[in-house]
Amino acid sequence: MILHNTLTGRTEPFAPALPPQVRMYVCGLTVYGRGHIGNYRSLVATDLLRRTLRYKGWRVKEVMNITDVDDRIIQLGKASGKDLRGFTAEHIRSFDEDSATLRMERPEVVPRATDHIPDMIGLVERLITRGHTYTAEGSVYFKIATFPEYGRLSRLDVSGIKAGARVDTDKYEKEDARDFVLWKAKEDEPEWAHWDAPFGRGRPGWHLECSAMSMKYLGETFDLHCGGVDLIFPHHENEIAQSTCATGKPFVRHWMHVTHLLVDNETMSKSKGNFYTIPDLLQRGHRPDAIRYLICAAHYRKPLNFT
Ligand SMILES: [Zn+2]
Repeated sequence: MILHNTLTGRTEPFAPALPPQVRMYVCGLTVYGRGHIGNYRSLVATDLLRRTLRYKGWRVKEVMNITDVDDRIIQLGKASGKDLRGFTAEHIRSFDEDSATLRMERPEVVPRATDHIPDMIGLVERLITRGHTYTAEGSVYFKIATFPEYGRLSRLDVSGIKAGARVDTDKYEKEDARDFVLWKAKEDEPEWAHWDAPFGRGRPGWHLECSAMSMKYLGETFDLHCGGVDLIFPHHENEIAQSTCATGKPFVRHWMHVTHLLVDNETMSKSKGNFYTIPDLLQRGHRPDAIRYLICAAHYRKPLNFT
């Protein structure tokens, strides 16, 4: 089997380190709203991949996380008047519903970020001990200057980045590459979004969540990490930095990324009004198997234009 590896930029043989088991991690949904068909393009592609690996005779252990605490969830949860569990429950239910519609197999482990706060705290402590962090205004930041390989996955030139400049938001562009937050202490956030930690009360950054949950279930080095191309930077770049610096070992052997779904030749977004969910398509009379077929019919690294 050959599979493109984002880390090397080449299509190369894929084989697990400990056959017959393949240990794979997929960045799942951030549950602040209903997933759109672009999210499901990525997830159905990884569903097809896990079935292919099994067909090859390997035993798959797949972990797909549910991000149930991040900037947007806190903002929208606060506005809805609910607490974190109350707000995310509905979106987790709709994710399960859409997964069933698309006949996606349930991964072996589907961990929720808020069930793994102690693991995340442990990871931050390891990074503190190893000298990869600093604290500013109560939050703990990862110092990217301490990891010379930073930028390798996304082919980012980090030479011009000013040491000590930092970023707090979960999502940002390459131009804003700087020290990123591991543990956020923000006073204006509700109590239900914060946890006690030896380095102060706060909550995990999004990137930290995936590093902690993947290594907990798959080990410090595992075979395959998948996600949409939009996750290469900063999310996966930051996952590599945190994990490698905490363990001193390579994090992932093979990186697989799925290209964006376009709608009428444009990237999909709520603000453009070209945003579709699975129920939207069902309502228009499209059959579930036809939707899945459409999503699978284009190669995962080629554009797929939905009209
Ligand atoms: Zn992730």
